[in-house]
This record gives sequence, structure tokens and C-alpha cells, in this order.
Amino acid sequence: MTDDRRTELATNLARVEERISAACAKAGRPRDEVTLIVVTKTYPASDVRLLAELGVRQVAENRDQEAAPKAAECTDLPLTWHFVGQLQTNKVRSVASYAGIVQSVDRARLVTALSREAVRAGRELGCLVQVALDAESGQQGDRGGVAPDRVPALAEAIAGAEGLRLDGVMTVAPLAGPYAGRQLAAFERLMEISTDLRATHPAANMVSAGMSADLEDAVAAGATHVRVGTAVLGVRPRLG
Ligand SMILES: *Cc1c(COP(=O)(O)O)cnc(C)c1O
Repeated sequence: MTDDRRTELATNLARVEERISAACAKAGRPRDEVTLIVVTKTYPASDVRLLAELGVRQVAENRDQEAAPKAAECTDLPLTWHFVGQLQTNKVRSVASYAGIVQSVDRARLVTALSREAVRAGRELGCLVQVALDAESGQQGDRGGVAPDRVPALAEAIAGAEGLRLDGVMTVAPLAGPYAGRQLAAFERLMEISTDLRATHPAANMVSAGMSADLEDAVAAGATHVRVGTAVLGVRPRLG
């Protein structure tokens, strides 16, 4: 069974690799500008282990309850764990113990909590500001994130917080609002936000965008990281 699953994952990874390479070629970008993050939510630690054996180094999860035990089973593997889900402050201590990068930072209270727990754990945590392209000015998005006009202030808070490192921006293509169904336009808007951010924080150059269905649009727009679940692991058994 493990051999079958390994073959399946290897085949899927090769397909995703081809898609990323083709998208890079089409955009005139070197392949090494784009990093694949495999989203392993709802799939077991045994799959994470196979993925690591197949060369994957970046994995992502969206729920601490699931991610914490999975990461604990995989501490011997050379992996960076990304946290990409909506994060409650009472889960921050746990997330700060295994995550290398939190991609879903979307409010000042979370920055304070992440900073406190990173310092307590003696770790440096990378942080991305999650941008909600469906949010009106000052509002939060349906799937987390801050409105574009709130990005600079949140970025400053992260950059000034002990234990945290401002790495860039992230978005999830919105299901509602002016960008619904317009992934390329959404990701291009994220790129503009990234360009503005890099004017004051040149090292904050991560742009995390694109999933199984729209990774080509993300690469075309200039994303540095794509987050792919289904296309590598299969259709999830439940909503995750
Ligand atoms: C689940 C998830 C992904 C991966 O989605 P797929 O469509 O399975 O590739 C990417 N980003 C976030 C934030 C997710 O929650």
C-alpha cells in the first residue's frame, strides 16, 4: 500500500512540477523563482513522510488541532511547516512551536501573540500578511485576511515585533467581490501590494498565491510560492 501511495504521490508531484515549469517558461521566469508548498491538511503523517522522501521540503496546514500532532510525528524530517489557516490567539503557542512561517497574519492582536510565543519558544517566526481582496476598506475577508489599505500598518507591526520576521504577503483567490472568478487579476493586485511593501521592506519578498486550480495564474502574476493540496494528494475526503 505504501508503495502504491508513493507511486501515486510521485506521479502527482511530477505533474505539478510540469505545470509550474510550463507556467514559468510562459511567463519568462526562471523555474527556481517559484517554490512549491504542499498543503497536507486532512492527509496523514505517513503521506508527509513519503512527500519528504520524494524531495518536498515545504508543507502547509490550516488547523492547529490537526497540524500539531502531525508535525510532532515528523520532527525527524527536513521540513518547513507553513500555517495557512485562520488562527485563533489561543492556538498561537502551539503553532509557534512547529511552524516556520505563519502565512495568515491578519490582525494586530495576532502579531502580539505570535511575538510573545516566538520569544518564549526561542524561535524566529516568519510572517506573511494575509490580504483579503474581497474586503472593503478596514474590513476582514470572509476567509481571513486584511483589506489592502490595512497591509502597511500590519506589516510595520510585524517588522517591529521581537521574534517575528516580515516575509511578505499571501492571498486566497476571493469567492466574492470584484475579484471573484478573476484569479489572474486578483494575483496581479497582490503583486502591486507586494511591490509597495518591498519599497519599505525589501526583504519581505515572498508572494504566496495560487492553489491546485489556479497556480498558473499565480506564476504568471509573479508569485514566489504556490500552495498545492489536491493536485498532489488527491481530492480531500472532507472540507478542510
Ligand atoms: C487547502 C488550501 C490550499 C490548497 O488548496 P488545493 O485546492 O487543495 O490545492 C491552499 N491554500 C490554503 C490557504 C488552503 O487552505
